[in-house]
Amino acid sequence: MITFNVPPYTGKEMEYIRECVENRKICGDGPYTKKCNEWIEEKTHTAKCLLTTSCTHATEMAALLAGIQAGDEVIMPSYTFVSTADAFVLRGAAPVFVDIRPDTMNLDENLIEAAITDRTRAIVPVHYAGVSCEMDKIMELAEKYHLTVIEDAAQGIMSTYKGRALGTFGAYGCFSFHETKNFSMGEGGALLIRDEENIEDAEIIREKGTNRSKYYRGQIDKYTWINYGSSYLPSDMNAAYLYAQLEMAEEITAARMACWDRYYANLLPLARAGRIELPAVPEGCVHNAHMFYIKTGDIEERTALISYLEERQVHSVFHYIPLHTAPAGLKFGRFHGEDRYTTRESERLLRLPMFYRLTLDQVDYICSQVQAFYE
Ligand SMILES: *Cc1c(COP(=O)(O)O)cnc(C)c1O
Repeated sequence: MITFNVPPYTGKEMEYIRECVENRKICGDGPYTKKCNEWIEEKTHTAKCLLTTSCTHATEMAALLAGIQAGDEVIMPSYTFVSTADAFVLRGAAPVFVDIRPDTMNLDENLIEAAITDRTRAIVPVHYAGVSCEMDKIMELAEKYHLTVIEDAAQGIMSTYKGRALGTFGAYGCFSFHETKNFSMGEGGALLIRDEENIEDAEIIREKGTNRSKYYRGQIDKYTWINYGSSYLPSDMNAAYLYAQLEMAEEITAARMACWDRYYANLLPLARAGRIELPAVPEGCVHNAHMFYIKTGDIEERTALISYLEERQVHSVFHYIPLHTAPAGLKFGRFHGEDRYTTRESERLLRLPMFYRLTLDQVDYICSQVQAFYE
């Protein structure tokens, strides 16, 4: 069976975790957490990176830092993971869902302005499959209406838009290091902070509302309770697992990209024949081969293809059920405008196996089975 995902593993993980255990450095903000933060800061050119227990938690921190309150509205796509909305619903805000673009499955930048009301406080673009949203337009609107941009860049590490790393456009950017993502620590994430003046508040919220981070750096001689907060820092053992992959980030990305390119080339004839659609990567976007998806004619065809592949030892999966159709989405949010593409496109999308160490032979086999289905 070719599974849909295998968590990344480089071979150095156990050595680094053993070091944490033997040195009795297993709590948060140890040497490996620092290394990961610095690696991400250098790679993305952001003012500050703080490793977190998940992308969900990074988004919750961003909602707190942005001062989101009950009654506020936050604009986001409905085609996304629940965490994008949850972080704001927890603050009492209402997600306002806007339709997506069918080519990238990202928030349609041209529909945002009409959804802005005097309650709107933030825009949350989700960079689906590691392909960037149209950030120039989104940042322009945010400036015009004084809105905070929080990027759900859960899938976006190593991707860029016009040369700039995803997660560094908005005031806050959120990465995920869940085991399904390009780099993993089991469960984990990171909060990217664009502006120096927000770093201290973020450190306080992440450390239970205390200024312990400052204390650890020797900037103060005792730490105290300053503000509300929670515990958003992961164990250094998890960071050690992640660091083994960050060290090999280029190799991992290149290997994934080779698979992505092979899928694309192999399936292009089927797309040209109008049988399936392939993902689009707009000009100015460099992606990270997080995902390879195709679009079938409709949901029935997709269900049949999933079974067909399953019988031939290939595990393929669909993705998000639009949030505005879910019980919590109906309760907490609303869809602005017409759902032209969100439901329709989500029902056609099928993800094929993609992970570090998937072989090109396996990709060839998978593609030959997809072709066979359409013959
Ligand atoms: C994976 C993912 C998340 C959640 O990440 P966790 O680290 O599991 O909290 C949020 N948003 C998107 C778009 C994701 O793909």
